[in-house]
Amino acid sequence: MTAAEFHYYRGRVALHAILRGLGVSRGDEVIVQAYTCAAVVEPLQRLGVTPVYVDIDRATYTMDLDALAAAVTGRTRAIIVQHTFGTPVDLARVRAVAGDVPIVEDCAHITEPDERGPVGATGAAAFYSYEWGKPVIAGVGGKAVVNDERLAATMREQYRAYAPPPLRREAVMAAQFLVHSVASELGVTWRLRALYRRLSRLGLVVGSYAEDPADSPEYRWRMTRSVRWRLPRRTARARKAIARRTAVAARYRTGVTRLGFPLPPAGSPGPVPLRVPVAVADKRGLLDAATRRRLEVGDWFATAVHPLTGAALEATGYRPGACPNAEWAADHVVSFPVRADASPHDVERGIALLGAIAGTPEGDGGLRIVAGPFTDTQIRAVAEMHATEVAHGFLSSLGVPALEVLYRHVAASEHCALYLALDGGRPVGYICGSLDTSALVREFVRRRWWVAAPALLPRLLRPGRVFRAIETLRYANAESDLPHAEVINFVVRPPARGTGAAQVLFDRLMRWFESHGATAVKMVTGERQQRAHGFYRKVGAELHGHTSIHSGTASRIYLYRTAMREQNPQTTP
Ligand SMILES: *Cc1c(COP(=O)(O)O)cnc(C)c1O
Repeated sequence: MTAAEFHYYRGRVALHAILRGLGVSRGDEVIVQAYTCAAVVEPLQRLGVTPVYVDIDRATYTMDLDALAAAVTGRTRAIIVQHTFGTPVDLARVRAVAGDVPIVEDCAHITEPDERGPVGATGAAAFYSYEWGKPVIAGVGGKAVVNDERLAATMREQYRAYAPPPLRREAVMAAQFLVHSVASELGVTWRLRALYRRLSRLGLVVGSYAEDPADSPEYRWRMTRSVRWRLPRRTARARKAIARRTAVAARYRTGVTRLGFPLPPAGSPGPVPLRVPVAVADKRGLLDAATRRRLEVGDWFATAVHPLTGAALEATGYRPGACPNAEWAADHVVSFPVRADASPHDVERGIALLGAIAGTPEGDGGLRIVAGPFTDTQIRAVAEMHATEVAHGFLSSLGVPALEVLYRHVAASEHCALYLALDGGRPVGYICGSLDTSALVREFVRRRWWVAAPALLPRLLRPGRVFRAIETLRYANAESDLPHAEVINFVVRPPARGTGAAQVLFDRLMRWFESHGATAVKMVTGERQQRAHGFYRKVGAELHGHTSIHSGTASRIYLYRTAMREQNPQTTP
């Protein structure tokens, strides 16, 4: 038979109609993968069925089919398989596991096949979505493709009761589509998310997720007339763009693989992926940097049931911890859009960002040094490491908020360099140095006093502190026979000690000093810092003398000549 097609207000309404047609009702179990979006779970909530979450395979971001086999029970009434990011699920295996249980394919991420391959044609039914970010963009809308004849007959009967949306909604949706089209023409889609958020707070656009799916009238609507009218042309256009998108995907795959990040397997010929997903150590950092560089990088799915967290997440029946791979993916995976109009330059910028910011979550021994730009979280981590590991210093007594201000300044100042060591994405140490600490202090006081004051004042006003502050400032100007270049702080947390992290950090900073013309660098270390003394001796620093920064605290001064690096072969990262 040729498959029957029904057009609905959106993808999730199509899914709801399919499940209704299958006779799924309150108390039944329906299997879905975790690492999905609320659009998939809303229809289940509306029907009162119990979602049974199956974890994903970390290599493909689609359902772990062994876990699926274990999840099927006598109460399972349907299995929803999601071709996440356009990576096709092994449908033959799903069929073998499913037995008599109907399969519903979530094809929201996959390009509708021209020739009917297994995708979209294997299950009892499949559904598609046409909103932004899907392979065919025609506006908010969804379609059910029904392969099972009995199901098709039932759905045809029920479809009569679906009405087109009210005209007012039609108008809002048409305007929203126009905004999106203009933005994508202007190449500013990276801005849309923020724009939509702002507009939906003002009530000017319709948000993606219903307040209460059980109540929403949308589940009785057909596709809007404008999307229905636009869809054939948009589908044809998307089909024509497949060759160009295939080339873009190949470029991403080559670049990402060269950097050592694993990718889901690409079937050959295989459908063109919607996105190229990459698991990175520092997802937040990469997304922040992408926004600064005006690059579109996807954060979804950000939770096991995107974008829900906390009570809303638990209301979907997902128990935190239930699907560890899904939660891991939500914490680590970013995705690059595979757009027909992406230029090789756009792709290169995405790859360059990946190389600059993000380590693999557990790649090359796990250790990675980042040189900024730093995220707020990373700056906070540096401040916290300072506060806990340099526990007795004056700066530590100022507290973490003041240290954050300080390190944000250090990271931005041209007098300084800051390197952060990440192990599996976790900050494990840092080193920072300055070419001229007194210039740094003057610059900081001049530019940041107004930021620092609220954090500093209450602490400075305690007796004793003021003295020590003055001593610290005076120290910066003393000892005039010593080089200005200086290691300001160097911390490696206990779990990373002995891993070579210290050596790599030190080496990076010394290379920076060298490239800035500093041939000698001083390091001042507390007399009792046995580990530091051992390290500086090992790297060939010479003991220059002793000093006392704070009354009663003896320190050693080491000198390191960057020209000595050749005679002391050291690991380079
Ligand atoms: C977009 C999407 C849907 C359906 O979305 P609608 O907004 O209801 O059209 C379903 N599943 C997945 C995985 C999606 O990304």
